[in-house]
Amino acid sequence: MSTLSETLILVVEDEPDLRAGLKHNLELEGYKVETAADGTEGLRRVRDSRPALILLDLMLPGMPGTEVLRHLRDTGSETPVIIVSARGQDGDKVQGLELGADDYVTKPFGLSELTARIRAVLRRTQAGAKAGAGDKTALGGVMQFADLTIDWRRFTVARDGQEHQLSRYEAEILRMLVEHRGEVVSRQDLLRKVWGYVHLPTTRTVDNHIARLRKKVERDVENPVHVVTVHGLGYRFETESTEGT
Ligand code: CA
Repeated sequence: MSTLSETLILVVEDEPDLRAGLKHNLELEGYKVETAADGTEGLRRVRDSRPALILLDLMLPGMPGTEVLRHLRDTGSETPVIIVSARGQDGDKVQGLELGADDYVTKPFGLSELTARIRAVLRRTQAGAKAGAGDKTALGGVMQFADLTIDWRRFTVARDGQEHQLSRYEAEILRMLVEHRGEVVSRQDLLRKVWGYVHLPTTRTVDNHIARLRKKVERDVENPVHVVTVHGLGYRFETESTEGT
């Protein structure tokens, strides 16, 4: 268990006063803080310093915050991200959540609100990692469903001799579907259990992660046989492939 003094937060913010202010105040709260003035520097610092959490401004010179986030998630980084957006950027905020941000704050925000959200996200992501360790054992290590092999110890899926690494969210979605295999799991249930918040304006976040998960578990993403859509209700994990019948 890491102590607070080891918890590194990366602040990606182009406004010098806000950047310096956040660094100063978060350090007073006991965090280690690194800063970046733009997205390119931010991505470099994520790679080099491996922060526990990223505060990501959306309006950045050059690469916008949403692109930084997309790059992070596309390259397999699951570092928790809190988006910092200005009023009137609701569309970007929603896009950010769909791209895999963990929470957001809207400028101007108070320090107590920000630190509460940081603590909540860290608690959730660390608890998620711990719960994952417990559930992996419950699900028995390696499971085989028709052409699909799931290794819960390594968070990998294998199909047709090809192995894929699952992201944290993909693994948690898959685990919930497999635990309830044969039953419908609603998008709201997935949002609540996997993300832990219910105030999302849309459930497209779930659909986007399901789409990414399908690329790994399905032979044909257009005709899924494992992670099946139940229209109007949610998703269902099928244990037996009906392919070719
Ligand atoms: Ca900015």
